[in-house]
Amino acid sequence: MKEKVLSEYKMQIPARSENEGVARAMVCAIAGVLDPTLGELADIRCAVSEAVTNAIVHGYRKAGGVVYITVKLLLGQIFFVEIADRGCGIRDVGEAMQPLFTTDAEGERSGMGFSVMQTFMDEVSVASEVGVGTRVSMRKRITGEHEGR
Ligand code: ATP
Ligand code: MG
Repeated sequence: MKEKVLSEYKMQIPARSENEGVARAMVCAIAGVLDPTLGELADIRCAVSEAVTNAIVHGYRKAGGVVYITVKLLLGQIFFVEIADRGCGIRDVGEAMQPLFTTDAEGERSGMGFSVMQTFMDEVSVASEVGVGTRVSMRKRITGEHEGR
């Protein structure tokens, strides 16, 4: 059965570290439409942060580019967000998603970004091609404060 999209939003954010907060705030503002709990909103904020940071630091290797963000609100209180870049791509997605796996040589990163996304969202899927880019899709059902929705 095809899911019913109630609203769809598209954003393009310059891939600069100071825009991580901008991306997060815009996505969370949209999530607010579903009346999430503060906990659910915090989960989305963390997951989006990790994906956007990855696009900027790994995808574009801090050299700039555009982060493409699509948010969809689906029937049944489902929040969907996709974060895509046209950066370097990932050679082995299965390996990259293992906890503690990182290609960071400077020792700044812990290799936990994908694990954080998987912990905080109901579903995370990653499609990537070397030299083409990476697309991270995530969804989460929002229960909200109110019962019976
Ligand atoms: P942390 O997120 O804990 O700071 P990390 O970014 O290395 O560390 P993950 O977010 O789990 O850890 O990502 C694992 C690895 O996957 C990265 O080190 C990088 O090699 C690769 N990766 C993730 N996202 C992208 C992307 N958008 N483009 C290219 N490579 C990526
Ligand atoms: Mg990361």
